[in-house]
Amino acid sequence: MALFGKPKYTIVRLKKREIPGGLWIKCEVCSETLYNKTLEENFKVCPKCDYHFILGAYERIALLLDRDSFEEQDRDMVSADPLDFKGPKTYKEKLAADQSLTGLKEAVVTGQGLLDNKKIVIAVTDSRFIMGSMGSVVGEKITRAIEAATRQALPLIIVSGSGGGARMYEGMFSLMQMAKTCAALSYHHRKKVPYISILTNPTMAGVMASFAGIGDIIIAEPKALIGFTGPRVIEQTIRHKLPAGFQSSEFLLEHGLIDMIVHRKTLKGTLSQLLDYLS
Ligand SMILES: [Zn+2]
Repeated sequence: MALFGKPKYTIVRLKKREIPGGLWIKCEVCSETLYNKTLEENFKVCPKCDYHFILGAYERIALLLDRDSFEEQDRDMVSADPLDFKGPKTYKEKLAADQSLTGLKEAVVTGQGLLDNKKIVIAVTDSRFIMGSMGSVVGEKITRAIEAATRQALPLIIVSGSGGGARMYEGMFSLMQMAKTCAALSYHHRKKVPYISILTNPTMAGVMASFAGIGDIIIAEPKALIGFTGPRVIEQTIRHKLPAGFQSSEFLLEHGLIDMIVHRKTLKGTLSQLLDYLS
């Protein structure tokens, strides 16, 4: 095989237009032109085809938590550049660009708050920031959130919008976050309080293969792309054609990887019921 052939990894691209900016926005799936305000009132779900637009971390928190109840932790933690990474863009440039694009310091927001008056710890990854990928800071913030939940014996909810998996700009440091977050979750598990993992479009690779894949309950949004490796690489490896839609929420529910698919409109209510039931 050629040393510099096609890349072995999978590139998940987000279309810029997915983040509504102006007055009108075109649905990526059904091409319906939607009034932005209507879309926002509809939880950023297309009223025509039910496509779930991508939500930023703070939008997601506003959707799930009771008003003004969120207390953020570790807001100012920023990534170092341990490998002094240089590509078409350096890691430092990429961090600076996504910080200014999103207003976030890193790809995850963590903290505590109330969900229907029940105290929980929450972490939400944001796919707009280097594809929501997990570097040292994302791993550390999530681990601290898990440990805060463990210390207080609180339920934990992690919402993943991480198409980028482990962050390649940090090499092995990012891979180590997979073990670190999972180890912290094993301590949380011993407290016999629930960890609910919510998978949103897209959740892939090192994130799906670590904390996102081991919830006591795993919920996905409809038609989310969820998987480890992209279909082309799998087909090349196993030399078989893959079934249609095999990395969708619906396929994964049918095959037992996730427990339920919940529409964004009913997500908070479902979580509230689950917390009542499990606590
Ligand atoms: Zn649509």
